[in-house]
Formats: sequence, C-alpha cells, structure tokens
Amino acid sequence: MDRRAYAYRGFMLDAARHFMPVQDVRRIIEAAAACGMNRMHWHLTDDQGWRLEIKKYPLLTQVGAVRGNTYFGDNISETENNCGYYTQQEIRDTVAFAREKGVEIVPEIEVPGHASAMLAAYPQFGCRRVLPRPTGEEINEAPYPYKVITYAGIFPNLICAGSESAVRFLKDILDEVAELFPGPEIHIGGDEAVKMHWRRCPDCQKRMEKEGLTDERALQRSLVLEIGEYLAQKGRKTIVWNESLEGGGLPPHFIVQHWLGNKEETAAFMAGGGKVIWSDVEYFYISRPFSSIDVYSLWNMPPAPDFARGHEENLLGLECPLWCERITNLSRAAYLLFPRLAAIAMKAQGQADFPDWAGFQSALREKMKLLEPLGLTPAPEEVWQISPEAAEKEKETELRLRHAPRMERVFEINDGMLMQESLERLLRTIGMPRSFALRVMDFAWAWLDEFSGGAPEQAEDGADILARHLRTAVESRWNGPWHDLPEKIWIDTMKCFTRFVNEHFQSYGVYGFDRGFWTTRQADARLFRVGELEYELCQEGEKRFIALHIPSDCRLEGKLLNDSVDQARAFLAAYFPAWENAPVTCESWLLSPALAGLLPPDSRILRFQRAFDLTPGTDDEREAVLQWVYRLAPPQQKHVSVSDLPEDTALRRNMKRFLLSGGMINAAGGPLARRFEE
Ligand SMILES: [Zn+2]
Repeated sequence: MDRRAYAYRGFMLDAARHFMPVQDVRRIIEAAAACGMNRMHWHLTDDQGWRLEIKKYPLLTQVGAVRGNTYFGDNISETENNCGYYTQQEIRDTVAFAREKGVEIVPEIEVPGHASAMLAAYPQFGCRRVLPRPTGEEINEAPYPYKVITYAGIFPNLICAGSESAVRFLKDILDEVAELFPGPEIHIGGDEAVKMHWRRCPDCQKRMEKEGLTDERALQRSLVLEIGEYLAQKGRKTIVWNESLEGGGLPPHFIVQHWLGNKEETAAFMAGGGKVIWSDVEYFYISRPFSSIDVYSLWNMPPAPDFARGHEENLLGLECPLWCERITNLSRAAYLLFPRLAAIAMKAQGQADFPDWAGFQSALREKMKLLEPLGLTPAPEEVWQISPEAAEKEKETELRLRHAPRMERVFEINDGMLMQESLERLLRTIGMPRSFALRVMDFAWAWLDEFSGGAPEQAEDGADILARHLRTAVESRWNGPWHDLPEKIWIDTMKCFTRFVNEHFQSYGVYGFDRGFWTTRQADARLFRVGELEYELCQEGEKRFIALHIPSDCRLEGKLLNDSVDQARAFLAAYFPAWENAPVTCESWLLSPALAGLLPPDSRILRFQRAFDLTPGTDDEREAVLQWVYRLAPPQQKHVSVSDLPEDTALRRNMKRFLLSGGMINAAGGPLARRFEE
C-alpha cells in the first residue's frame, strides 16, 4: 500500500450557485487548514452567478452576480444568498489570510461552458448563429437570449471560441485573476460544455477549418491549449476538469482534475507525465449526503485510484468539491465539510495508517475540537458510520427532495440537452451533409425554446421528420432497445439516414428526407445494417423470420455477403436469441427471374439470386426498377417516359428495351438457402 503524502490536499467551494459571504469563507479556510488541507479551489463563476469583481468588465458582477429566486429542489431556500460577489480588495485580503494559514487559493473561471452569467453580462462574446433555410444559410445577428440561470443543469451557453474579441475578453479577465491570486495554479474548468452553439457558429466553424479540427471537442482542446499557454507565460499551471482531454489529450504542463468519465484518457495523460488531482465523485463529492459518503467509507477507501496504477508519482493529490446548489449557508456547509475534510486530509497526508477504525475516529475527534473556537459544528458522530437502514432513509428523503414535482422541467431540460448533444454528434459521425444536419439539429431541439430560439421555419424537406426519428433512436441508445447493442452496428444502421438524404440530393438536387415511412424500424432497433445487408426482425403470430433488405449502396460480392450473413447470425445469437435460427427471407425486384435475360451470364445479380430458393411473385416492381436502375425518385417518374431513359450501361440499355417491349419486372422472393457464390 502506498502511504505517501500528497502535495495537493484540496477542497472546492462553489460560490456561484450560492454566494457565501467572505467572512464565512474565511472561517471555512481556517477550519480546513486546521484539518490539514492546503488548497482551496474557489469555484467563482458558473451559469448561476459570477462572483468575482473584474475592473475592466464591471457588468460581470453588476449583471452576472444578480439573480432572482432560485429553485434547486424542495427544502432549499429559494431566496437565500442568490446574489453577491467578492470585491478585489476582499479577494486580496482572503488570499493573504489563507496563505497565513498555509492554504493556497486556486480560483476557477469556467471556460468554455457554464458561462450563462458571463454571457448575460456580455452577450457579444457568445456565438453567432447560422440559420439554415431551404434557400441557403443566413446569419442570425441577434444574440442568443442569455440569462443568469435560476436552476441546476448543463446549458449550451459557451463563450465563442472563434471570435478574437471573445478570446481577448477571456485573457483580460485572466490577467486580473492572475494578479489577484498569486498561487501556482489557476483552474479554467472545461467540464460539461455541450457544443450546440459552436456547431451553428460561423466563427467557431471557421477556426476549426483553419486549424484542421474535425469536431467541436477538438475546438475546446484548442481553446484550452491557447489559454493554458497564456497562463504558462505568467508562470502558472492550468488545471482543467478531465473532459478537456476528450479532444485528443493535453500536454503535461496542464493538471487534470478527474471527477467522472473516461479513465483511460486520464491514465494516458498520467502515462505521458501529466499530473492529476483525484476527485472521483464516488469518494470526494462531499456535497453528497453521508448516506453516499460516510467517514467510514473514507477511512476505508483505496490509497490511489486504479487509473493511476503504475504512475502514482503523477498523482498530485486529492480534492473534495463542495457543490452548493443545495447549500445556502455556512452551517449547512460546515455540516457537510466536517469531519469529512479532516478524514480526507489524513488520508492525503499519509496518516491513514490507522489500522483500526476506532483509532481513526479518536484522531478525528481531536481535530474536530479545533473547530469549536471557530463556531463551526461538524456532522455528529452518528452519521460518521451510517447504518444501512439510516442510509436508506436518508437517500430516500434526499431523492424525494431532489426529484420534487417542480423539478420535472429541470430534468427534462437537462436530459434534453445531453440527448441533443448526442444527436448532433451522431449527425457528424454518420457524415450527414452539414446544411441538412443543421436543419435537423434545429428541429430536434426546437422544444427547448429557452435555448434554441424555437422551431425553424417549416419546410417540405422532411428535416423535422428525420429529427424525430433520430431523437427516438438516440433515446433508445440511452435507455431503450438500442442501449446494449454493438457500437458498429448502431453507427452503420444510423448511416441509412445519410444515404437517404444523399439519394434525395441525387434525385432532386436539394437535400431532403422522404423515407419516414421506412426508418421507424431503424430507430426502434428492429432493422440493422450488418456489413452489406440489412436485417429486419419480423414476427407474424408465432412465426419469426428475418427479412433481408438490400440497401442501395450494397456491394453484391459473394465474400462480403457471406461475411454479412455470418456476422448478422452471430449478432442475433448474442442479442436476439429468439431470432437465432429464424429463416432469412428476401423479396426484391433484384430476385426477379426476368432479369436473367437482361444481364450477362456472369452478373453479380444473377449469382446473388442463386443463393435463394425463389418463388416468382406477381407485383409489378416498375417503380423500384426506375428508382434503382435509373435513379428516378417516384415523384420524378411521372415526368419521364421510358423512351427518354438513359442507355449508358448494359443493364440500363437492356432494361429500357425490355420495358419498351411491354416487359414487366415482378418481385420474386424466398428463403436464403445457401452460401453466396464467391
Ligand atoms: Zn462561436
């Protein structure tokens, strides 16, 4: 067991969600120092408030430090400490006071997200917006409707990364911050930045293009690198939350605070020499009740996280954040902080060699005596090691308060925002053309009108229908039938949407989506693309079968087709065992016996046909033939006579003659009976 002492022993105080008067902050600093802490991370800016006076930009506090009654769930005062900020003189005095006690203050200015209060004050530093119209793109010069937010959550309000004046604004702020806080580190956030605004912003997109960045996470990385460089010139280390690693890692002069999410990225950063602060939600989020993190569990916790294995020397230390959505005053803060801060500091100082719990408790009791002269009351001993029954009861109460009926809209907004981020990222992953993707994105979040500005102009292009289908699919991927299915099949299946939109372009010269009648099956995880072919789970009464579909971009090569069938069988056996041995059947004009006379004897279509036991059908497939052989969408077919059809390939020439002579292509179908000829 590693018993080393950590250099960074911190706690975080969130002054944005509720303002804590400076004299109260000093009492907490003094108590934390007595417990053995040596850093206070001061979360000074967020969507719900900007708490730091900046001389150059007075509106940050005049507008950003003021908000109305606020609702963070039941049983929390809606009026207490919503407003307020620290003057620069108060900051200087507090920094000096903390230093005397052996505590260095790490200020946090959130970049690029959690910026609603900042942008409420200076909307000109938010993004501009491209409005996709059926007739082309327009710039909406009206800024987004920013407000200091009065509930919890994740919001799309980001500083514009593509605007030079916005980045200058940020650097101006950091100039004053660096002046006020002389400690070695400055925190610039980087968490929970959903990128809806950046995706729609011509300036952000231009910066991405200029720097060759492939997605908006890489843009965040680029901005973070720029700011980190700026602070490095001032001799400061930059701390970021671990999401900032998403865009492709960071150089080791950054410090990463790991709280949740991708451990591999954090491990890779450490392997490259980067220093990490351990702040796992599970052990260190002490805004959570004792039923989630009691003192006993802290005594019992591992000395280092698993992602640090092999690179323990790069674990800079620990930090416990106290998020203050539900903490409106000093006494509530003290209850949650103590004695948990002391317990964590003891672990961090390597004093955790208390083989028995009783010894650990008596050491804590001694430390808690130091709080008495400060007038701070720690949590009583009955919650230090909380019984399973008491924990259950506390959890239930907590859940009820957090999920009070009035919270419904808040959760709806939050889930909606995260879902929208997934949907927008999916559109990029499946290669949807940007102009159409923008319209789909705007329809998909139209219902979040406080942030989206409402539904875009209605049109006949089907973007609203595609938005609906993709939302269903993404919801399903989160917690529905798509949830556990393999990523590759998910993405390959979703690519059908891009194919249909591109086919619409080929037919009409404009992007559109007109396959809504078809794609509910993909959205609902009933039809899958596996390799070259699509497989639909069908059931008629007791009878199960798999309907095989031939997508228009299918390559009819025997080996690829056999691979597809093998992979589909393995996939179904693993995830849909009821369909494991169900027959595969196909019905298509491509299986029509009439094609035999129109194709050369070695045609791939004929070889494809021979894998099936076919029964000729009677349905006239003229429409499908015109669509697939001549790329004429059904509405276009009305305006084209057969004699005008092109003859640029053998199939097109022969088919045209066949149709002119009154021939008819009927669908044929039957079970897949043998391997495809390779
Ligand atoms: Zn922008």
